[in-house]
Amino acid sequence: MRITKPSYFDDFHCIASRCPDSCCKEWDVQVDPEAAALYRSLPGPLGDRLREVLQTEDGETVMTIVDGRCPMWRSDGLCRIQAELGEQALCRTCREFPRLTHDYGDFLERQLELSCPEAARILLTAPYAPPVTEEVPGGSEAEYDGEAMAVLKQTRQAALALLSDPLRSAREVLALLLLYGCQAQEALDGGEALSFDAEAALETIREFARPGSIREVLDFFSGLEILTPQWNARLQDIPSGQMPETVRALARYLVERYWLQAVSDYDLACRVKFILISCLVVCALGGDFIATAQLFSKEIENNYDNVEAILDAAYTSPIFTDDKLLGMLLGLAES
Ligand code: SF4
Repeated sequence: MRITKPSYFDDFHCIASRCPDSCCKEWDVQVDPEAAALYRSLPGPLGDRLREVLQTEDGETVMTIVDGRCPMWRSDGLCRIQAELGEQALCRTCREFPRLTHDYGDFLERQLELSCPEAARILLTAPYAPPVTEEVPGGSEAEYDGEAMAVLKQTRQAALALLSDPLRSAREVLALLLLYGCQAQEALDGGEALSFDAEAALETIREFARPGSIREVLDFFSGLEILTPQWNARLQDIPSGQMPETVRALARYLVERYWLQAVSDYDLACRVKFILISCLVVCALGGDFIATAQLFSKEIENNYDNVEAILDAAYTSPIFTDDKLLGMLLGLAES
């Protein structure tokens, strides 16, 4: 079995009490059956408290938050389970976070998740480098269409190269990604794999783009599920017109995370739009780019319904038509 991961993946360390946010706030934590059985069987005050706060919802065990925070979170910022029983006693969710695993059967891709502030800092500041690959025993049969996966891997590589092009601005590479995504979708649909002419694509973009409303985009996000008052307030702010260079790293993270997922339904185009909408929103919210991207991820990426709503709207909402997306990416002002 082949495992691919970023070179910094194994060096990630939780910064615990120095974390400006915490994964122990606001979220209910899903507890795997083995950990739930262990917790419920523990003697003493720790077991009593766990039996009190563990709840079963739709057949799943969850640790419900109390007063906005995990009931196992101590005032010194440390986890009571970890402190009293050791790291191996943590449930899978807490042990793994913010490490993501995309399991395709015969290969795995690992990645850090942007919703952790320390992971966000690493993801958005580390110089871009190809991932490292290792072979380990185990694995199973490929769980995907081999031809489609080959197209997706090849086009993802090209998309990452496009985003890293130092000769073009961040705005240009994001706009080009939309057109490249359309071409990659055609290849995924069985069309001819054409080489991408970025110069010609830029001409098309300049002709086709028209102003869109970033205010409408933020209003759309205000209508999604919201976890924190902080996010709600940020969405009401006057949008920033800036597009910092760091947005390339955000786009690369999203491409690495979502591109291959199109093997499940052959719909790459809407994922590309999701990536671009995400970049636009993080830029529009302004402030510290890394902190804003982390908050975005916590509110959007970690909420399945929110991601699905954006993927649907990418096709159906007049806010997200290709011409308007291109206009917003290029920074065209509304008249
Ligand atoms: S969000 Fe990240 S750095 Fe913060 S407590 Fe959780 S794992 Fe640690």
